[in-house]
Amino acid sequence: MSELAENSATDPAILDAIGRVWGYDALRPMQERAIAAGVEGRDCLTVLPTGGGKSLCYQVPALVTGKLTVVASPLIALMRDQVRGLELNGYGAAALHSGVEAEEAREIVTRAFDGSIHLIFAAPERLVTSGFKAILAELHDAGRLGAIAIDEAHCISQWGHDFRPEFRRLKELRRVAPGIGMQAFTATATPRVQEDIVEQLGLRDPEVLIGKFDRPNLCYRVQARNRTADQIAEAVRRHRSAGDSGGTIVYCLSRKDTEALAQELVEHGLDADAYHAGLSEKKRMSVEQAFLNETLDVVVATVAFGMGIDRSNVRLVVHATMPKSIEAYQQETGRAGRDGEPAECLLLYSPSDSGRWERLIGFGAEDSGADPAGQLRLIREMRSLIAAMTCRHKALSEHFGQALEIDPEKGCGACDICLGETEIDQESVKVAQVLMSAVARTGQRYGAAHVCDVVRGSKGEKVVSRGHDELSVHGLLAGYSKAQLGMYLDQLISKGALERVVEERFETLRFGDCGVSVMKGAEDIVLSNPLGTGSASKERVRGRKQGREAVVLDVDERVVFERLRTLRTSIAQERGVPPYVVFSDATLRALVKDRPTNRNEMLRVKGIGQAKLDAFGDVFLEALGDE
Ligand code: ADP
Ligand code: ZN
Repeated sequence: MSELAENSATDPAILDAIGRVWGYDALRPMQERAIAAGVEGRDCLTVLPTGGGKSLCYQVPALVTGKLTVVASPLIALMRDQVRGLELNGYGAAALHSGVEAEEAREIVTRAFDGSIHLIFAAPERLVTSGFKAILAELHDAGRLGAIAIDEAHCISQWGHDFRPEFRRLKELRRVAPGIGMQAFTATATPRVQEDIVEQLGLRDPEVLIGKFDRPNLCYRVQARNRTADQIAEAVRRHRSAGDSGGTIVYCLSRKDTEALAQELVEHGLDADAYHAGLSEKKRMSVEQAFLNETLDVVVATVAFGMGIDRSNVRLVVHATMPKSIEAYQQETGRAGRDGEPAECLLLYSPSDSGRWERLIGFGAEDSGADPAGQLRLIREMRSLIAAMTCRHKALSEHFGQALEIDPEKGCGACDICLGETEIDQESVKVAQVLMSAVARTGQRYGAAHVCDVVRGSKGEKVVSRGHDELSVHGLLAGYSKAQLGMYLDQLISKGALERVVEERFETLRFGDCGVSVMKGAEDIVLSNPLGTGSASKERVRGRKQGREAVVLDVDERVVFERLRTLRTSIAQERGVPPYVVFSDATLRALVKDRPTNRNEMLRVKGIGQAKLDAFGDVFLEALGDE
């Protein structure tokens, strides 16, 4: 399937607008349908993954109908950046939030009436004030109101990952502006949340557009964690030497971990800093700003970081510990490659991670009242996703209920499994037999840690006091690390040879359906190891081929790219906007490759519309001409 709806029936007026304003030459298929619904004033729910291009879906209808769209959005910082980005494209937009003075707010309303702005962004709680409702009603009576758009619409649902009760009141806008279309947008994949959005907003016979959840531009990798800081530094350097200059986010489980790891990364020569909720507001703001403005490369953070961060060229997201669920993994890795360019998601895993989560849940459950059984189930799902050793793209898509066709010969080209970065243990059958007999001989009453101790030949008190040092399997796998055997046990679970049983928070391993035949060596079982550090080659810092593969720059071109990047940073600083708002990395790369020598040629570069050409064309042409 082509990524763009070329040769499609896109209205010429729309094609003209996206070329002139955004510098794009086509719409993506879902965008085309969502925009059509917006223009027709139909209710619509659009579910597209991060980077899928949702914002264009409400920006275009407002422009082509010439009527105002009001956009409910939860994050003020993002609104401001969006407005600035649109203004640089010559598209009139404004944000109403508590930082806007009364006079400025009146001016925004005047501009809404005279049609010089197409969008007003506001937080939901502001949209439902009586003052704003009155303005909305007036705009409606004057025939100036085109649509109401709800961004991050999953916030309306308590089943979503970021429930905000104030979103529930948005339904009230229906009474103020009857007959006006309401369009909701989210990246959240679960059907339950989708249904909830439709219900809570009272959408009428909505067009429901559900895109592919898969993010082809992300490359997923899992590596056994052994030397965390070295592994991260290695990954960051791999990206640097492949010529990519984007940011890295490293997620840790605790505040203490973020600080210790940031320190270690600095000692490795990286430009890194820590971020967590325990820091002063001033410090947090400065880390956020530095990362957004591209003056800081690596943020080592708790998962709190990222919600308000819209840096579109995050090229690497590392999980230093396994995330607590597949949903969380999807959400957090989703912060990579928002610009649609290739990016990497590296998970450093140790089987001990789930134990850490389980202890945290055990402690937290007493006071939070959360359902610990449910949380434990999510942890186990995450663990089996890792152990499945099948294409990560496929496994993730299927988890969210969507099939993904991957050519079994070629693989997806963007995950550790398909790229052959795992190694099959030549002794798989024998090793599996030993592990299974250890479980059997210890009476199927112990957890993974104890089973590993026995086969590795531990003389520890727990092993000796139970006489497990006298078993024939004792010490048979002495050459294997605990982490490696832990991963093998996970794989045996995912293959149905073993089952994990949790009773009163203690986990034991028992035989599963095919346990006996694996123990007898009758199954052709395959156990694999992530090859770990160093195996991921530079060429593999890329997403899947789907028309979105990054343009690769050679050494000379990289020099030019860096020159353009420096220029972009200085323009961004002058204007007080994040650099990506000036030009995306993809546009800079296209400039380096295409080498336009005049304004006309420049206008053909993707991401450069008329307004940006007027504002930045000459300086960039000059920078391209410098040798
Ligand atoms: P989302 O809000 O769904 O995460 P965005 O609206 O931020 O996605 O768009 C993601 C990226 O895709 C942006 O860099 C944007 O410039 C780019 N993009 C969106 N639509 C198109 C298109 N039709 N052609 C080319 N690039 C596009
Ligand atoms: Zn794959």
